[in-house]
Amino acid sequence: MPIDATSPYDSDNIFAKILRGDLPCEKVDESEHSLAFHDINPLAPVHILVIPKGAYVSWDDFSAKASDAEIADFTRLVGKVARDRQMVQQGYRLLANVGKRGGQEVPHLHVHLFGGEPLGPMLARQ
Ligand code: 5GP
Repeated sequence: MPIDATSPYDSDNIFAKILRGDLPCEKVDESEHSLAFHDINPLAPVHILVIPKGAYVSWDDFSAKASDAEIADFTRLVGKVARDRQMVQQGYRLLANVGKRGGQEVPHLHVHLFGGEPLGPMLARQ
């Protein structure tokens, strides 16, 4: 069920539990303010999630409230993960779902990195 991205942060969400070490994840990389790990239900041969360690519901929340250091760290980790996994030359996709119409299900900001095969059109009209 997609979340309302204007709701207050829910510290019981799945990614908060991963950050606390209450749930496991398959870690890809980590920086001072950010964590990258494999999606549990991959939708492409490479499907990695990058999240800030801070309590931000969505891209909207993060871009409004995070420090410059957190934003720089997060942006750099997304790029580093793609470079380290040789995704740049073949191309890859970044996606951040925000709120109800965006289809966001976990109420902690995450960017999806997809790659490893041709990804087709950005959206398919239904
Ligand atoms: P959203 O729809 O919110 O943009 O994406 C949430 C993503 O989180 C989904 O791709 C889903 O597979 C992934 N996910 C949900 N629960 C877990 C979990 O416990 N561990 C990991 N690694 N990924 C999860």
